[in-house]
Order: sequence, then structure tokens, then C-alpha cells
Amino acid sequence: VPLVVLGGGPGGYAAAFLAADLGMPVALVERDERLGGTCLLRGCIPSKALLHVAGVISEARQMHEWGVSFGEPRVDLGALRARKEKIIATLCGGLTQLAKKRNVQVINAKGVFENSTTLKLEGGDPRTYDDNRLTFEHCILASGSLPAMPGPWKLASGRVMDSSGALELVDVPESMLVVGGGYIGLEMGTVYSELGSRVSVVELLPNLLPQGVDRDLVKPLADRMGKRFKNIYLETKVAGLKDLDSGVEVTFDKAGQQFSETYSRVLVAVGRRPNSQGIGLETTHVAIDGNGFVVVDEQQRTADPQIFAIGDVSGEPMLAHKASHQGKVAVEALHGEPAAFQPLAIPAVVFTDPEIAWAGLTEEQAKADRVAIEVARYPWAASGKAQAMGRTEGLTKLIIDPATDRILGIGIVGPHAGDLISEGVLAIEMGVTARDLGESIHPHPTLSETLAFSAEAYLGTATEIYKPRREARA
Ligand code: NAD
Repeated sequence: VPLVVLGGGPGGYAAAFLAADLGMPVALVERDERLGGTCLLRGCIPSKALLHVAGVISEARQMHEWGVSFGEPRVDLGALRARKEKIIATLCGGLTQLAKKRNVQVINAKGVFENSTTLKLEGGDPRTYDDNRLTFEHCILASGSLPAMPGPWKLASGRVMDSSGALELVDVPESMLVVGGGYIGLEMGTVYSELGSRVSVVELLPNLLPQGVDRDLVKPLADRMGKRFKNIYLETKVAGLKDLDSGVEVTFDKAGQQFSETYSRVLVAVGRRPNSQGIGLETTHVAIDGNGFVVVDEQQRTADPQIFAIGDVSGEPMLAHKASHQGKVAVEALHGEPAAFQPLAIPAVVFTDPEIAWAGLTEEQAKADRVAIEVARYPWAASGKAQAMGRTEGLTKLIIDPATDRILGIGIVGPHAGDLISEGVLAIEMGVTARDLGESIHPHPTLSETLAFSAEAYLGTATEIYKPRREARA
């Protein structure tokens, strides 16, 4: 075939579908029986379904502040799992239909490179190909990533889970330790905590969400989790895990001091590794960096002229929306268009309660790069909508270039931050100034107003904040 896409996640199927739309004959090789990849089958979508439930439980509990009380939730785990599976099945079915309509040939097999133009198809249903081999002119590698799980932590009891195991929701354990205070740990910790587990978190570094997330944004989340979770151990290592009859005995190490606790289950969420091993890349000219990522240029071309790579396997950040955009760039480049993956802002969202979302330049990064910036903050306590929802801990923050008044970065913490961030992304990509953002009329009362109001806070014209006005700019 002229084009084969290896991997049917949000990067791979976006690429295959666009290629078909542009008239290229394309095959999509996926070892799973269903399309969708980690995001749909054991990542973004099931976790968001469970977080939706967690959010409703949490809101119902909070209602007592308003004089409305519900009883303790009774959770039918079977029904909950079935509902989650139904969502996945609906979306997977949709992808299969879309592939069919577009004439994308979906091959259910594991693809392993034999050289720069041949894939060997293993397992699955390697149908009608000579020797189960598929030759191609170009391949877009979209093989994704896998949860990192240190070997000695894999215990026979199965009580130590990775994110896929946690999403199975086998039970609601009485107690759970989350190892790793990153995206997955905090999202799944939130789910289990709301369903009734006593959750603790252990994080190697001195903060939750230590990797590049603005401290101002993390604080309201850390405060809330501090109340909700049993213990949050920072700057603490897990020295060992051991199966006992009563659960998993965890030995912690904090600055050389060891202590042990027993948990019903342990979730390990210490990062993901690019899926670049065991797929025959050594038989091609593809270059792999020290962290296992496939090296690509801004058109997603690898060092092998026949092979492109997109998504998690091609570098950080490992986010579905980045993968699908890269997939489209790779296809357009193949199609001879001057496409390049050069975003000014890739939004990131942690779907906890409150949510944290950010895009573009962060305050920390600006400091590290010695970029002159000004920071504008709009605390949600000044927002009528946030007050009406009882969620005044939120904050909207803009990073602004003082020379041009352009928006360079945005960060939001609070409910729906993930839905609010996109306007900030558009502002950054379009070179919007604080005045543009402030003078675009936002509907009242909404949380989206906090974006316009933070721009006004920078200009000194925010109605609900007293701050002397900036001098008018030319
Ligand atoms: P992560 O990199 O976000 O967090 C891992 C955390 O574990 C880090 O804070 C790290 O310091 C800590 N850690 C590492 N080793 C440790 C140890 N031995 N003991 C204690 N802590 C340790 O990784 P993740 O949460 O596993 O998620 C993996 C990837 O999946 C993320 O990078 C992200 O790209 C993606 N993801 C995204 C979303 C989202 O967009 N909402 C949600 C889930 C996952």
C-alpha cells in the first residue's frame, strides 16, 4: 500500500482518516481488536466517565452547605462499569464506521518492521497478505506509549495496578495508595476517593504535579486534596512493596527515614514510556533518543525518509490532541503541503476537582528563559458566577508581553478550567492583546468572563478589582 499507519489511537486514526479524505489509499494497522488506542480504550475517555461520576457525588455532598442533603451514595459497581464500557463501545463503533465509509483498510494485527518498507503482521487477523507482510511507500508510526511499572512492583496478588487496571474498577478498595502525584495519580485518586476509598498519595518531588505546572494553579487543588485524601507524602520514595494477606505492605523512604503502611490496593502512576521497543525499529533508519522517543522534525519526519512518527512515541507532551494534530501535519506533508507542527500553545488539562488547565508560556518558564513578562491574575472570588457556584478558590492567570500587550500564556484553576482554556489558546495563537481580550464582550455571568477580566486586571480596568489603571498605550 502507498501509506500505512501503525497504531489506531487518536494520532493514528486522525492521520489515516485525513489521508483517505485527501485521496490516498491507506491501511491502518492496530493490534487491539478495536480502534481508539489508549485514549479511548484505557485512558482519557473511561477516566472522564468515572470522573463525571466522582464530580456528581462530590457536588451532591457539597449541597449540604446550601441546605440540601442527599444520603450517602450507593454504588452499583457492575452498572457503573457497564455504563463506562458502553461509552467506549459507542465511540469505538463510530470509529469503525468512519473507517469503513472512508475506505480505510483496518488490519487487526501487531505490525513489526522488517525494514524501511515492510511490516510483518503478527497475531490478530493477518488476512490476505503474502507471508503476512505488508509493504508500503510510507509509514506513519503512531504506536503510542505504555505505563511505566518497575519490575519488582509487579506483585502476584494483582493488588498493584497501573492506570489500565485502575480503570477496570474491580472493586472500591478500603484504602488505596497512589504512587506518583502526576496527571493519572491525581485523576484516578479523585475517582476512588469519591467512590469511597481512603486514598493516599506519595510523590517523589516536593510538590504535586511537579512537572512544569504553575504553583499558583496547583495550590487550590492541593488544598482540596489535602482535606479529601488521607495522606499526601511529598519528597518520599517507595522503597518496596510486599504482598501480605491483609493487603500490600508499602515501605516508604523520606530523607532516609523508613516507615511502612498497608493498603488494600496500590496504583502506580509514575509516568509513561514511548512504545518504541519490540516493533523492529532497529531494522529501519529511524533514530531514537535517550528516553526512547523517536526523533522527528517539524513535519514529523524521522531519520528514515520512508517513516514519519506522531504522538506519544515521538515525544512529550503525551497528549491525545497533540497526537492528532501531528497526524494531520504528517499527512499534509506527505501530500506535498508546506505543513509544520509549530504550535505556540498546546493546552494541558488535569481533570481533577478543581480542574487545572494551562497553555503557552508559564511564569516559571519565562523566568528560566529570562523573558520579560507581566502576570495578571483574576481570583474567582471576584466572579459572580464562581460565587453562585460556591467555587471561589479558582484563579485565571495571564502571562503577557509588556512590550506588546500580547497574551503569551494562560493558566486556569477551577471547575471547567479544561473547557475554558481554549479561548486562551486561540488568543495566544492569534497574537491577541490584553485589550482585544478585555473588549471582546463575554456573557455574564459565566466563568469565561474571568479571561476578559484578567486582561482587564492587567490593564487596570477590571470593574470588580481595584488596581490603578495602566497608562494608555499607543
Ligand atoms: P506524570 O509524569 O504526569 O506523573 C508521574 C509522577 O510520578 C511525577 O510527579 C513524578 O515525579 C512521580 N514519580 C516518578 N517516580 C516516582 C516514584 N518512584 N515514587 C513516587 N513518585 C514518583 O505521569 P502519569 O500521571 O503516569 O501520566 C503519564 C502521562 O499520561 C502524562 O505525562 C500525560 O501526558 C498523560 N496523561 C494525561 C492526562 C490528561 O491530559 N488529563 C491524564 C492522564 C495521563
